[in-house]
Amino acid sequence: TGAHVVVVGGGFGGATAARYLRRADPGLRITLIEPQQRFATCPFSNLYLGGLRDWDSITHGYDGLRAAGIEVIHARAEDVDAAARSVTLSDGTRLGWDRLVLSPGIDFRWGALAGYDEAAAELAPHAWKAGPQTQLLRKQLEAMEDGGSFVMVVPEGAFRCPPGPYERASMVAHYFKTHKPRSKILILDSQDKFSKQPLFQQGWQAHYGEMIEWVGQSDDGLVAEVDAGTREAVTVFGTRHKADVLNVIPPQKAGVIAERAGVADQTGWVPVVAERFESTLVPGIHVLGDATIAAPMPKSGFCANAQAKVAAAAIAADLAGREPPPASFANTCYSLIAPGWGIAVAGVYRASDGKVVEVEGAGGVSPLDAGPEFRRAEADYGAGWYASICADIWG
Ligand code: FAD
Repeated sequence: TGAHVVVVGGGFGGATAARYLRRADPGLRITLIEPQQRFATCPFSNLYLGGLRDWDSITHGYDGLRAAGIEVIHARAEDVDAAARSVTLSDGTRLGWDRLVLSPGIDFRWGALAGYDEAAAELAPHAWKAGPQTQLLRKQLEAMEDGGSFVMVVPEGAFRCPPGPYERASMVAHYFKTHKPRSKILILDSQDKFSKQPLFQQGWQAHYGEMIEWVGQSDDGLVAEVDAGTREAVTVFGTRHKADVLNVIPPQKAGVIAERAGVADQTGWVPVVAERFESTLVPGIHVLGDATIAAPMPKSGFCANAQAKVAAAAIAADLAGREPPPASFANTCYSLIAPGWGIAVAGVYRASDGKVVEVEGAGGVSPLDAGPEFRRAEADYGAGWYASICADIWG
């Protein structure tokens, strides 16, 4: 059709959207805006922390997208003028668009947890965006003495990757078990239950004995304040926990460009029409992935990829004056508890009256009490999922 679609964010949602728009309509002009030359994935970054993956194996470049005929510009989108249908980049360029796709991921609510700002993150890393933060956390784990304590703070409110903190605890436990067996892990949680909890706890017991302690909100797990300098986390009841390595996952919101574009609401997240993943506030802007309000879909890379395919089909159909195909989505979140020991949760979803709804009876979690063969197969499926989704997006 010759229309121009600008995509902001070359992560799971954005890079998928660019690629699937290209497939849906070879006549489109597609521009992808992403500041990083190489993208490190959060998926499998916990395995890097555990020593099971090297850094190169979780980073991806943009040559594959360029070869597919997508123009990739390494800059930040600074502002969006929805009325003029333009976006301004950090290099000063102003690009016009017929449709805009935003998949900026998350940003942090600095200061929402007392004591935790950008400077504190250099001492007590979050490692909740993969990159230098993940490498810093790994270095701190390597530098820690045997017998030390690793303390993780799990935030209040919606956060990226519901099983992510518990997979991280598992992978750090694997590293400790093999290198620093006298060390301890403490998870201070703002929630009273968590994703795949019985499966995680059974796996922890089997592989790590008493090494991992999880403290839920009602047992004084809710952290009110952190002191990154002394590496202390203080709960709402005033209990102080001193860590040797302190990993604070801060409260989150949609990437700031969502606010600039006027698509985020008072919650800090972006409401969308589920049939097209188009903003309910600003027509013509489609928003994907972690930035959106898409519950019951979780904030996962798998979901961002599925939402991007739905949005790409809807945009291509709309620009060509056709009806979009019906929207359906799937998700599986794999977590690795130990080498060769995987678990998973799956869901299937569709759009109904603008909302995402779960298809009853279609999803589920791995069975409790399954044997080592079953867990090994799920670990293999997880590795296969990672290889295939990365090939689908950046390959
Ligand atoms: P992202 O993939 O984060 O991409 C956003 C991109 O936008 C970034 O590259 C950023 O640089 C760019 N950007 C932001 N602002 C701008 C701007 N203004 N201009 C230009 N570019 C911009 N999910 C799974 O499915 N499976 C897993 O096993 C899994 N494991 C995880 C483990 C951990 C530890 C964590 C933290 C997350 C995990 N996730 C997993 C979740 C997954 O990482 C996210 O759900 C996914 O990355 C969301 O995709 P997205 O497109 O919304 O954001």
